[in-house]
Amino acid sequence: MSKKKFKGISTLTLHTAGHENDNFSHTTPIYATSTFTFNSTDEGIERFKGEDKSRLYTRWGNPTFNAAQDVIAALESHGINNEKGEPLELLAYLHSSGQAAMSTLFLSNLSTGDTLISHYSLYGGTQELMQKILVATGVTIILIDINDLALLETTIKENPNAKLIHLETPANPTLQCVDIEAICSVAHKHGLKVSVDNTVATPYLQQPFALGADFVFHSATKFLNGHGSALHGVLLGKDLEFMKTKVWKWHVLLGGNANAFDSYLLIQGMKTLEIRMEKHCSNTAKVAAYLDAHPAIAQVNYTGLKSHPHHAIANKQMKQHAPLISFELKGGIDAGMKFIDAVEVCTRAVSLGTVDTLVSHPASMTHMSIPKEERIKYGITDGLIRMSVGIENFEDLEADLAQALAKAGI
Ligand SMILES: *Cc1c(COP(=O)(O)O)cnc(C)c1O
Repeated sequence: MSKKKFKGISTLTLHTAGHENDNFSHTTPIYATSTFTFNSTDEGIERFKGEDKSRLYTRWGNPTFNAAQDVIAALESHGINNEKGEPLELLAYLHSSGQAAMSTLFLSNLSTGDTLISHYSLYGGTQELMQKILVATGVTIILIDINDLALLETTIKENPNAKLIHLETPANPTLQCVDIEAICSVAHKHGLKVSVDNTVATPYLQQPFALGADFVFHSATKFLNGHGSALHGVLLGKDLEFMKTKVWKWHVLLGGNANAFDSYLLIQGMKTLEIRMEKHCSNTAKVAAYLDAHPAIAQVNYTGLKSHPHHAIANKQMKQHAPLISFELKGGIDAGMKFIDAVEVCTRAVSLGTVDTLVSHPASMTHMSIPKEERIKYGITDGLIRMSVGIENFEDLEADLAQALAKAGI
């Protein structure tokens, strides 16, 4: 765990994974190795007995993963003190993907007979993981409108085996937000833990540990990497003992470890997190205003618009509005498909958080395997377009949107 403290985010992401290594490499070395050597049995015994198991066997950890984990832990704890008024210490475990980190989170916290409470409008993969894998292990899943705190309290009381509340805010792709602080205080009153998927906001915009969360999850594939060059997921926790024992054990036994090359890409990507996020956010505000005023568009979902139902919650817990929007074309499914086909600057692809603007159509892509009735209930309508706004020059994005909306015959 890095002990360095910095005032600003860019200094932190540039200098946390330092240059300390035997060969004076300026960038973090890629330790492409499955195992680590010992000079003697005594040295082996010492390392096995020690707390840091990252120089034994790579499924258990690796110095390149450690460097990436340290940066993310520093970002999520930046400027936060614990109950004793000391700087918050976190442990982060890097995984091969967001889904792997989510599996560790759920399986290390829940077992047969337990209940997980969550809310509508989750990332498609999270919802499927809950309903196809967790349910099969004997865990009950309850999805509610979790901003209704009275309903949350009743649900907790009626389900004494509820152990964990999982939140995703803002949610991908509807941008619905839930009030982390209010939900954590209800949860903690009843002895439940809370995990927060902070993928869309990033720690630059929102720090769930400052609002009471017990665990934070990221698909680091998205804004943390920033360039769409690899998949990674990270699970962070503030109960260091629980992280070092149960969570670590489940992580290494499930085998969802990261790899050194992808960890290196993540470290490089995070160096520019602050300047990327600033540009992503300012471009998004302009794109949302442009789309909101366009006659062909029925609705724009962006937490920065006063019309967004969770604008106030987003203002309360985020430093700026996240650079993800979705919008509904008046022409429905046909217009949506024509629009996607007509873009020339925006990239047609799923995923989000890359330096270039990505456009996708959730109903036929990310949320295809969720039954239509259910998907519509969560706000994922047929004509919904999701846009992860990149760092291009705004004038080029505006011109592309104008021509694509025109070509789509709307
Ligand atoms: C992408 C994503 C995930 C899953 O992460 P992978 O890295 O694709 O496994 C989970 N939650 C959210 C909000 C995501 O956007």
